[in-house]
Amino acid sequence: MPLSSVANPIDKREIPFYENVGNECAMFEHAFRQRLPLLLKGPTGCGKTRFVSHMAAKLGRPLFTVSCHDDLTSADLTGRYLLQGGETRWVDGPLTRAVREGGICYLDEVVEARKDVTVVLHPLTDDRRLLPLERTGELLEAPDDFMLVVSYNPGYQHILKSLKPSTRQRFLAMSFDFPPPKVERDIVARESGLPGEQCAALVNLAASLRAMKGQDLEEGVSTRLLVYCATLIAAGVPILEAARATLVEPLSDDADVQEGLMEAIQATF
Ligand code: ADP
Repeated sequence: MPLSSVANPIDKREIPFYENVGNECAMFEHAFRQRLPLLLKGPTGCGKTRFVSHMAAKLGRPLFTVSCHDDLTSADLTGRYLLQGGETRWVDGPLTRAVREGGICYLDEVVEARKDVTVVLHPLTDDRRLLPLERTGELLEAPDDFMLVVSYNPGYQHILKSLKPSTRQRFLAMSFDFPPPKVERDIVARESGLPGEQCAALVNLAASLRAMKGQDLEEGVSTRLLVYCATLIAAGVPILEAARATLVEPLSDDADVQEGLMEAIQATF
């Protein structure tokens, strides 16, 4: 679909900042225009959500984001009858709204959701692009400007919680990781206001902390946490205090691991 035909005019001031790292922006646009669903894989805090907000704004489509959890059912996405002012009224869920309004529906950590969610996703993610609403008896056909984007973190996967091949093979897929050092430095500087040199030191430190992943840590320090750390430092918090609160405590509860992280931090600053 040509971009000129999308509904809202693009206002650059309202597009959330996202630094393109590879071909992800172009691939997202292709997926949108070709009406294909997209799967984003990658660790937490590496920019997936920001990327989707950026692209939705750039394409001028409303964004409906759902953080999936293990109690999330298909009715949370499609909608339900609710009692309102003595009357029972059908209320669309975020997925249904995105289909009706022609928006982007982003299901973050989709593997966390209950299994019945895949039942509504399957007809939407093949060439039928249909959303059956059993409760209302409707069968909605997704318009050209509807897009489904889902994400998950392969690092958290265990056998019971992974996407079945029959589901994942319905999506274009892209892997995300922490940005290369120079890009990450610029992102952290821009988001926090901390000068680039200090951000470069934080990004170097992140590389050594990320190298500890697997031995002692489940996850490496995220770009999000680096932004938090830089924001605190820019606000005048002493570096070691900022680092403890953002790069040590959120990563581990284990005293020995925390000590190892603090040692690496003290060696840098
Ligand atoms: P995820 O959804 O992967 O958990 P987020 O999109 O919330 O992560 O990213 C966390 C933060 O990292 C963002 O709020 C933003 O400050 C920063 N960030 C990460 N990558 C980028 C990028 N490529 N461009 C701009 N900001 C980024």
